[in-house]
Amino acid sequence: MATALRIDGKAKAAELSAEITRKTASLLQDHGVIPGLAVVIAGEDPASQVYVRNKKRTAESCGFKSIQHTLPGDVSQERLLELVDELNTDDSVHGILVQLPLPTHLDEQVVTQAILPSKDVDGFHFVNIGKLTSGNTDDAFVPCTPAGCMLMIEDQLGEDLSGLEAVVIGRSNIVGKPMASLLLQRNATVTVTHSRTRDLPEVVRRADIVVAAVGRANLVAGDWIKPGAVVIDVGINRVEVTVDGETKSRLTGDVDYDSVAEVAAAITPVPGGVGPMTIVMLMANTLRAAKFANGLAL
Ligand code: NAP
Repeated sequence: MATALRIDGKAKAAELSAEITRKTASLLQDHGVIPGLAVVIAGEDPASQVYVRNKKRTAESCGFKSIQHTLPGDVSQERLLELVDELNTDDSVHGILVQLPLPTHLDEQVVTQAILPSKDVDGFHFVNIGKLTSGNTDDAFVPCTPAGCMLMIEDQLGEDLSGLEAVVIGRSNIVGKPMASLLLQRNATVTVTHSRTRDLPEVVRRADIVVAAVGRANLVAGDWIKPGAVVIDVGINRVEVTVDGETKSRLTGDVDYDSVAEVAAAITPVPGGVGPMTIVMLMANTLRAAKFANGLAL
């Protein structure tokens, strides 16, 4: 029987989004500034198109100016960099996001690093990564997914994680590593694990906080979890299930929800956990970028 609290990321994201909408209205009324978010997508990847649509819809509902540039899948690197440059110099654009993954002929690193750090609302520029890892986050943009995870962890355990052990599963630049930096900044004792970790279940059993960002459906089982742990499931995996003899596809996380919910104190569902928080953190970063650009205190 599930005993864990189900952390409702969708409800929390809706609350934050309402707050951002209010602050956006005040920014316009008091300073005549409208936050501008430009999203660039190259190619036809269906998952990316869904993500971009959701970002655009949320940006508009927050009262932002939302611009989308859809480029053909065979766009040249030069043209893409030219567009990034135009957006860098456009004063009505405060945040720029290039949707990843890019088609394989394009160099993601070169494109990501071409975005001005002050407009890098994804937090992938080396300047923002450096600020995060050195603990200088006052004017940094923190990657959206780990930032959203942190807010949900904070709701459960408070801001100071002193004395708590956190295990992050996955060491990607967009989730695992920045997540570890954020947890460390809050005084947690952090272990980052990956595909070469020996005896992963044993390492995870030590954790008061588990963040799974792997991309393997239901990898984390109930018997890996310390009783009372807080479990954040970042994974998004599409799996086939058979319902009444019919095969359907559905989304599932990296955590086996049912077995983990019997042991953990709190757990995020998939969908409805980390996903909605990621999008709203992008809006929070864009609002911050608009304020910074206009010399307004945060
Ligand atoms: P990624 O770049 O593929 O990284 C996956 C990480 O998991 C790697 O560090 C890899 O280790 C590790 N790993 C793979 N198999 C493992 C295993 N069996 N045991 C332990 N570690 C293992 O993925 P990502 O971009 O971080 O994304 C991870 C998941 O989160 C995906 O499902 C993605 O769709 C999802 N995601 C969700 C959101 C959201 O908003 N909800 C945002 C971003 C990502 P190595 O480094 O050794 O290869």
